[in-house]
Amino acid sequence: MRVRDLPLPEQFVAHFADRGIRELYPPQAAAVDAGVCAGENVVAAVPTASGKTLIAELALVTADGPGLYVCPLRALAREKYEAFAALPGVDAAIATGDFDATGEALAGTDVVVATSEKVDSAIRNGASWVDDLACVAVDEVHLLGAERRGPTLEVTLATLRRRNPELQVVALSATVDNPEAIAEWLDAALVESEWRPVDLRTGVAVGGNVTFDDGTTTAVAVPNAAVGEAEAGGADDGPPGDTEVTAALVADAVDQGGQCLAFVRSRTEAVALAERLADDRLAERLGTESAATAAADEVADVDGTATGQRLADCLRVGVAFHHAGLRAGHRAVVEEAFRAREIACICATPTLAAGVNVPARRVVVRDQKRYAGSAMEWLPTLEVHQMCGRAGRPGLDPYGEAVLVGDEDTRAELVARYVEGEPEAVESKLTDPASLRTHVLSAIATGFAESEAEILDVFEGTFYAREAGAGGLADAVAVAVDDLVAAGLVRRETGGVETYRLAATPVGSTASKQYVRPETAERIVSGLRTAAGMRNPTTLTVFEVVCDTPDMQDTYLGNAERAEIYRFARANAGALTTAMDEPDDFEEWLESVKTARILDEWIGGATVEELVASYRIGPGDLDSRVERAEWLLSAAEALAETIGVRVPAVARARSRL
Ligand code: ADP
Repeated sequence: MRVRDLPLPEQFVAHFADRGIRELYPPQAAAVDAGVCAGENVVAAVPTASGKTLIAELALVTADGPGLYVCPLRALAREKYEAFAALPGVDAAIATGDFDATGEALAGTDVVVATSEKVDSAIRNGASWVDDLACVAVDEVHLLGAERRGPTLEVTLATLRRRNPELQVVALSATVDNPEAIAEWLDAALVESEWRPVDLRTGVAVGGNVTFDDGTTTAVAVPNAAVGEAEAGGADDGPPGDTEVTAALVADAVDQGGQCLAFVRSRTEAVALAERLADDRLAERLGTESAATAAADEVADVDGTATGQRLADCLRVGVAFHHAGLRAGHRAVVEEAFRAREIACICATPTLAAGVNVPARRVVVRDQKRYAGSAMEWLPTLEVHQMCGRAGRPGLDPYGEAVLVGDEDTRAELVARYVEGEPEAVESKLTDPASLRTHVLSAIATGFAESEAEILDVFEGTFYAREAGAGGLADAVAVAVDDLVAAGLVRRETGGVETYRLAATPVGSTASKQYVRPETAERIVSGLRTAAGMRNPTTLTVFEVVCDTPDMQDTYLGNAERAEIYRFARANAGALTTAMDEPDDFEEWLESVKTARILDEWIGGATVEELVASYRIGPGDLDSRVERAEWLLSAAEALAETIGVRVPAVARARSRL
């Protein structure tokens, strides 16, 4: 099927042709056959890199009115926004700022790219543009199964569809075990395909020998195993370590002109592997030394943190690490340099696989397990498939190769789980009590529901309800309502005998509009009251309050640091709203004190470089905490006004941030 035969204005045909898109890929053609250009609901469950974005673009440009592209991952939103903004004559806007209010400015645009949280927040704040939509496209719809984010996605979609039954829904999913359930939920035609633009073979490496699923094998020379292991601090004989096998697989691909992605379990491992690969002169072998040096200089200009320095040192020789502790500016340089084929390898945590479009000749998955609490757990098949799916660049690589590094003992398990195994089914997480409280409060505060029965009506259109029936939520909803009443966010207004109506209290209403969790609002309100009664509440006081909420990220507290933070908390007890014998979870509270201390030093003039060095956090962690704190302080100001309490330190902290 040719693009020019589609019902598209000539300028779009020319636009796509400029990008090398003239003939539709088979799953795209199937989506057109299913009516994606004719207002029909379509779910496309196809592998990574098989052209899902075009399916969404076709739906949105042929829709009879404004469109919304829901992007559950912030990291992806900008890339998608740029794709829409480049469409001729299309006025696109992006709304990803974590949790800010209405976005009325978005009215009048042709396509809005937003996270599900942003859309949820807009609905709660009564934004009218959401009712004018003709089409909504949802990317990564399988994230429906993710904690927190999943329930927000399904409730938001259900609400949009309830308010606008004519709305066209196009949902894009990775390959999962139950795409037909998602299609049924959305009353959509299902396009399911295993087709990929570049062939992919997946194999397991034991030592230097790789056996692929198509029966082919490859052998790479692993340098003296004994030396490698001794350097890594392991045993000094025996089979080569996973790191050495990984290095050999990377060097082998680079020598054939291909780039690599190497996935490991943690940030520390990503840095360690990159620094190990830095010995292998990869840029020289790829022939891109000067471009790699330029990328290194760009990273060095971002800031003077040790993380930035280490990244620049790696880049200079053609390798990078990539994880959530990097600043957005660091990550952008790495991704760009990799796409431009200036560097040979990125060592990454699994976040890269879901987030960013960085195809490579060979993907090496060194670690297939990660810590979950105290034990190591196998990664979900879906996640490993997303990593493997990054292998093979259309038009550039003859094929893509994904290699799982294992040993004799794990070989069979790796084959069964990840080479031959099917990805998991998507399951709703809506019954999680914390998520349910949030969405129950929102249903009441927006006036969509005034009784438990009406709350169930709101949830009627969720994926959960489609699978299990909304009635299955009745008990959990009743518990959530009781919790919200006990927390002072909802009240029961009695009418006649035994009839009552649920309404949000002023605090509940503010919490919903500010888009904070019920528990966050509760903690801020009690913290503000305590602070108001203190002789001299400081900025540290208010940071302690907002950092001690579930909406602030945890900050890791190492053993060595624990005693120091404990001393700090004691010395500053007079400025904290929590007495030291008060917290149920003392460790968690100490972590909050650490975050509060970092933020307080930040507004006191400490530099990123200093804070990263003294608190051993990633520079990107500081950025994300500052951003969260800004939002939580603005919520605290709104809550202070709602309850009529004055704590000037809130505004002071906020303006200095
Ligand atoms: P996905 O979202 O499925 O991971 P993308 O939509 O990012 O994949 O597409 C991957 C790449 O394939 C993009 O660079 C895109 O421009 C290209 N592409 C998509 N459809 C076609 C097509 N029909 N012909 C040629 N290239 C295409």
